[in-house]
Amino acid sequence: MPDYPQLSLFINGQWRQTADTIPVLNPEDETVIGTTPMARRTDLDDALEAAETGFRIWSRTPAKERAAVLMRAAALMRDRADEIAHANTLDMGKPLAASKQEALRGAMIMEWDAAESLRQYGRVIEGTAGYRNTVLRQPIGPVAAFSTWNFPISTAVRKVASGLAAGCSIILKAPEDTPSGAYHVARVFQDAGLPDGVLSLLYGDAPEISGYLIPQTAIRLVTFTGSTAVGGHLGTLAAQHMTPVIMELGGHAPVLVCDDVDPAQMGQMGAARKYRNSGQVCTSPTRFYVAEPLYDQFCDSFLDRARATRVGSGFDAATEMGPLVHDRRLEAMSALVEDAVQQGAELKLGGKRHGNKGYFFEPTVLANVPDTARIMQEEPFGPIAILNTMSSLDDGIAKANSVDFGLAAYGFSHKATNLDRMVDGIEVGQLSLNTFDTSLPETPFGGVKSSGLGREGGAEGLSHYTVVKNVSHRSEIG
Ligand code: NAD
Repeated sequence: MPDYPQLSLFINGQWRQTADTIPVLNPEDETVIGTTPMARRTDLDDALEAAETGFRIWSRTPAKERAAVLMRAAALMRDRADEIAHANTLDMGKPLAASKQEALRGAMIMEWDAAESLRQYGRVIEGTAGYRNTVLRQPIGPVAAFSTWNFPISTAVRKVASGLAAGCSIILKAPEDTPSGAYHVARVFQDAGLPDGVLSLLYGDAPEISGYLIPQTAIRLVTFTGSTAVGGHLGTLAAQHMTPVIMELGGHAPVLVCDDVDPAQMGQMGAARKYRNSGQVCTSPTRFYVAEPLYDQFCDSFLDRARATRVGSGFDAATEMGPLVHDRRLEAMSALVEDAVQQGAELKLGGKRHGNKGYFFEPTVLANVPDTARIMQEEPFGPIAILNTMSSLDDGIAKANSVDFGLAAYGFSHKATNLDRMVDGIEVGQLSLNTFDTSLPETPFGGVKSSGLGREGGAEGLSHYTVVKNVSHRSEIG
């Protein structure tokens, strides 16, 4: 397997180094595995100019040719999935099989966007006699995209594939902590024949780059994945320039376990899902509200499965949970656990750093957590589960809605009436019933409340990268 790649900026079809770099750390053992180049102001200006030129070329390229580039890029992702996964596990720490799955999912997203882009149909509206109105969907323009570190391959692909499929050019600012995923995404598009300038890749000081790019008149859409705090800041900046945004922000997913399900099965399923990606998932099931009669059995089963979670190197095939991405997340986890315990929660499992090398945190279970604890309102974004009760389904739905987030929620019951009540009552963008599976390339993903704006994926996601133009056409001048 090749060593960790030499990372570069990618601007106007050229790979570019800069004098200013920061180290890339392996979160498993804190060793330096590479360096990330930091963009300078001149790199940002060059990327903006390339995006404007690239947009003129790409927006006029027939949809079929654009789709063919996306399909070639997808094929290259598949061919290179092992290499891409290796680098992703080195800088992000997730198990190798999960990294490979993420690369293959990236390919699926590209394929779906390519196919859907051929169906960006408009409409014809007759209107007044002698007139014909044609409604067109045209690419919105150059996009500033900010991807993040928890799914470094697929958050980058989500933005790039939809934008390119719609005919936009993109400046992608990728995360410095886990930079290899976006680097490989840019490489497959270059090798698939994407014209120079259509896609640029930047790393660097995030506030400086977003603060410079977003106000530019060239930028017609901003898409960001990350925390609600940063999303709010970028959204405010974009609003000052009337630039639309797509915001995929935090979540605090509730899980409602009704009194008619098997508590042992649910405990096993819940714990297996909670520790995926070390809990660093915006849809991670976090607040489990269990029907009171099932609570004890559910907790026993959850704890058994949580205890059995294999924590270790992402390169060990038996590992289920790798490290957290950086040391800041370790501190955040410890602080949330400490506060919850002080408020009266029972620490049933874990609660501290695992080992003394790398950023591992123990699979953690808190039970009977009072609503006053910080973790009941703040997204843990790590391997901490909250096991609480619900006295009725109405109580569970009220508790599910009691946070400011509204990204994902899960509900489990055999009764259609219970499931329907959850469909009607839970305030989220993504509701999964009787499963912990969430989004597909073909389904729209996003949140309500402070979890975000807009959708990624599905026809809805693609439509954000277009603008609607109505052409009023009178058959005779007059
Ligand atoms: P953070 O808010 O500092 O960073 C999150 C991401 O935003 C990073 O990729 C970072 O580079 C980027 N970022 C930060 N400031 C920015 C700015 N001014 N302009 C542009 N980009 C900026 O948080 P963190 O400590 O890295 O991660 C913790 C929190 O981030 C979590 O609690 C979670 O809420 C959120 N997060 C959410 C997702 C998601 O999938 N929605 C993914 C990653 C992180």
